[in-house]
Amino acid sequence: MIPFNKPHVTGLELENLRRVLERRHLSGDGEFTKRCQSQIEQLLKSGKSLLTTSCTDALEMAAILCDIKPDDEVIVPSFTFVSTANAFALRGAHIRFIDSQSEHPNLDARLLDELITPRTKAVVPVHYAGMACDMNLIMNCARRHGLRVVEDAAQAIDSYFDGQHLGSIGDIGAFSFHETKNVMAGEGGSIHINDDSLIARAEIVREKGTNRSSFFRGEVAKYGWVDIGSSFLPSELTAAFLSAQLESIQEIQSKRRQLWRRYHDRLVFLSDRGCLKLPVVPPNATNNAHMYYVMCDSLQQRTALMARLKAAGVSAAFHYQSLHASAYFAASHDGRSLPNADKYTNCLLRLPLFFDLKDAEQDLVCETIENHFVGT
Ligand SMILES: *Cc1c(COP(=O)(O)O)cnc(C)c1O
Repeated sequence: MIPFNKPHVTGLELENLRRVLERRHLSGDGEFTKRCQSQIEQLLKSGKSLLTTSCTDALEMAAILCDIKPDDEVIVPSFTFVSTANAFALRGAHIRFIDSQSEHPNLDARLLDELITPRTKAVVPVHYAGMACDMNLIMNCARRHGLRVVEDAAQAIDSYFDGQHLGSIGDIGAFSFHETKNVMAGEGGSIHINDDSLIARAEIVREKGTNRSSFFRGEVAKYGWVDIGSSFLPSELTAAFLSAQLESIQEIQSKRRQLWRRYHDRLVFLSDRGCLKLPVVPPNATNNAHMYYVMCDSLQQRTALMARLKAAGVSAAFHYQSLHASAYFAASHDGRSLPNADKYTNCLLRLPLFFDLKDAEQDLVCETIENHFVGT
């Protein structure tokens, strides 16, 4: 069976892990945490990076830093991972779900204005498949209405909008290093603070609401409870692993881009014939080859294609189920229909794409799809 994902290990991880064991500094904020943060800061060119245990945690930190209070409204795409919305729901926010674009799963920024009320506090663009949302429209709208912008850049490492790295444009960015992402540590994440006035509080929130970071820098004589927070920092073992991956980012990315291009070149004739649709890179955006997906015409067509692939030994995966229609939220939704989110829920199918995917395996995936549509 060709798996949907197989985490890639670069080979440098073990040496880093050995060093952590030798030095016996296993808790967070040691040498490798600092190294990862500076690797990420170099990539993003601006802002302050703090490692977290997940992107979910980075989003939960962001909700605290944005001072989200009960009954505040936060605008989130419906077609996204649960954590994008849940992080703000945890603070008591009411989520206003926004639809996707018809040509791309990213949120349709033209719909923002009509969703904004006096209670709106923040908007959370998700860069789906690592491709940028229209950050010009989003930032302009947010500035006009005094909203915070938290970029869910979980999938967006090494991807850009108008030359600016994703996650470095809004007030805060959130990255994931879960094993399904391009660069990973099994579980892991980081928060990226672009508004300097939030940095001091971010350190406190990440350290259980204490000023421990400031204590270790010798700025205060003892540390204590100064704010709300939680334990958002990962161990040095996670950081050591991640640092090795970040070291290899160029190699990882060039391989992934090559695989993405190979799918695209091979399947484009099916899109020309109207059998299915292929991903489109939005204007001003780059493609970090996080994901390759195809769009079927209907749920039935996707189910049939998935079954065909499975029979040929290929694991393909659909993705998010619209959150506005979820078991937890449906009763709280304002009743607007979000047809594009539902379309991606029903019709999007992700193909295997991972560093160690062999050409022969990719050929089998493509042949199976070709045969399904143009029949042999
Ligand atoms: C993976 C992902 C997350 C969650 O990341 P974790 O590190 O597993 O918490 C959140 N949002 C999006 C868009 C993701 O793809």
